Amino acid sequence: MSTIFQKIIDKQIPADIVYEDDRCLAFRDINPQAPTHVLVIPKRAIRSVAELEASDADLIGYLFVVVRKIAEQEGLSNGYRTVINSGRDGGQTVDHLHIHLLGGRGLAWPPG
Ligand code: 5GP
Repeated sequence: MSTIFQKIIDKQIPADIVYEDDRCLAFRDINPQAPTHVLVIPKRAIRSVAELEASDADLIGYLFVVVRKIAEQEGLSNGYRTVINSGRDGGQTVDHLHIHLLGGRGLAWPPG
């Protein structure tokens, strides 16, 4: 079944895209939890961290390099947080692996 993020990749629904290349896409979260809240996703449909294979290691590493580039682009020189929710208890609501990049304000810890 196609997720909302697959529809964004396929340009069937709009998103505020901040970065795109052949392997990944990054766009602003529709319900931002910080001044910068960007989602970085692989174009290949991987459901969650729980589905990762050893052969995905390069792709996942690459997504974090893209996170770093976007953080620079967004001017997050004071720091930022990356979050990956996995499964129901992890709070995952869209079954297409995504890295949240949050910044632009001080973030509390621990999460709820
Ligand atoms: P999760 O809860 O799965 O870790 O994160 C899913 C995120 O996707 C949420 O922060 C939610 O606001 C965001 N989201 C859900 N639907 C859409 C959408 O249609 N467009 C965008 N830009 N973000 C979405």
